[in-house]
Amino acid sequence: MLVEDETTLAETLRYNLEREGYSVIIAADGMQGLDQARRAQPDLIVLDIMLPLLDGFSVCRIIRQESDVPIMMLTARQDEVDRIAGLELGADDYISKPFSLGEFLARVRAIMRRSDRQPRAGAREVLEAGTLRIDTSSRRAWCEGNEITLPHKEFDLLTCLVRNRGIALSRDLLLERVWGIDFIGDSRTVDVHIRWLREKIEPDPARPRSIQTVRGIGYRFEVPELL
Ligand code: CA
Repeated sequence: MLVEDETTLAETLRYNLEREGYSVIIAADGMQGLDQARRAQPDLIVLDIMLPLLDGFSVCRIIRQESDVPIMMLTARQDEVDRIAGLELGADDYISKPFSLGEFLARVRAIMRRSDRQPRAGAREVLEAGTLRIDTSSRRAWCEGNEITLPHKEFDLLTCLVRNRGIALSRDLLLERVWGIDFIGDSRTVDVHIRWLREKIEPDPARPRSIQTVRGIGYRFEVPELL
């Protein structure tokens, strides 16, 4: 989880972490960070210090009372580094802005290795549902044996639906899981991506059998009966 109010930085880090096989959620202020840390139980928290509503020092102190999740602080100034050391906040590491992407990713890998929390890339996960096959480690998908090309968000959306097959997922939940809690947009984004997905995996997109609409809620993935 990234707790960072600078959207460009947060999105850049998210993009590069996802390329390494991690799944990433972003919180844009301290309160959201705290709330998400409790709900999503991330394996690593990258925590900026200057944040709206609640600063990173406070977030770190509170989280540390509740969990031993690794925390990496992002600092912008030397006096923040001094405070991290002085206050014994329980942060596992810190990195000073501006930092290089390479250094950041190396630190993340080191922390995850130390805490024995490996990215998905370490374990191959293949989901099968009816005629659909998804390999989350190589991010490839097949329908009826033919590989289908899915853009980033469509792939994540389909994976989320298939992992939770048989369960009605609300648009808000899908938005949060696939686009992140700080996503600026609305639930129609979900509908548009569902339409694109149906065109790729449904024999008759107008009469979907796998991705079912749950009226007033969202969507549910079902494995169609093979006739
Ligand atoms: Ca900040």
